[in-house]
Amino acid sequence: MARPARGGRTTCESCISIDVRRWHREGRLHADQYFSCSWTRGGEPSGRINVRTECGEAVLSYRAQNWGASEWKSIEQRVPIAWTACHLGGRRPWFICAVYCNGRYCGRRAAVLYCAGELFACRRCYGLAYESQQETPMRRGVSQAQKIRMRLGGSVSLFEPFPEKPIRMHWRTYLRLRARAEAAEHTSNWLTMQWVNRLKRRRELA
Ligand SMILES: [Zn+2]
Repeated sequence: MARPARGGRTTCESCISIDVRRWHREGRLHADQYFSCSWTRGGEPSGRINVRTECGEAVLSYRAQNWGASEWKSIEQRVPIAWTACHLGGRRPWFICAVYCNGRYCGRRAAVLYCAGELFACRRCYGLAYESQQETPMRRGVSQAQKIRMRLGGSVSLFEPFPEKPIRMHWRTYLRLRARAEAAEHTSNWLTMQWVNRLKRRRELA
């Protein structure tokens, strides 16, 4: 169901996942509800599960196929749901990751569970990385700078002049963001130069 990122660990974003906050928003956590969730990848269906809610847990039913295996298996997984109080009142739900990982029961609270194997489990049990963690330091600097430029109303292009201060933003905030973007661009440029120099040296030696 999941694919490893280029040259690295499998990422959260490449896995099928369920988010308890979303189910809560959609009013799906009351007992005795039935619903299904489905996913697509590149326009093709890539997964589907049926969910039944009971008192304090969600029961997931689906069919899974292990890597390399040709047969499909029917799976029913019970996922406990816990509630904690919020600072500003109200309460929020969590999935409890109820799987055994390396022989130990996990039991962690998680907002999102991923299916990177047969069962739904937390990010740590599957050792998943976020896509941003997979970026090279060079690329990370560029995307940090791009995010700041876009937050200030600019485009993603680093070749355009740096965006002006938005009217409602404090100068202090603007200058802090600008300094952070410039530092990120500078680091990224410096790493790119190092990389180019290394390539050149390698060519000269060849
Ligand atoms: Zn876990």
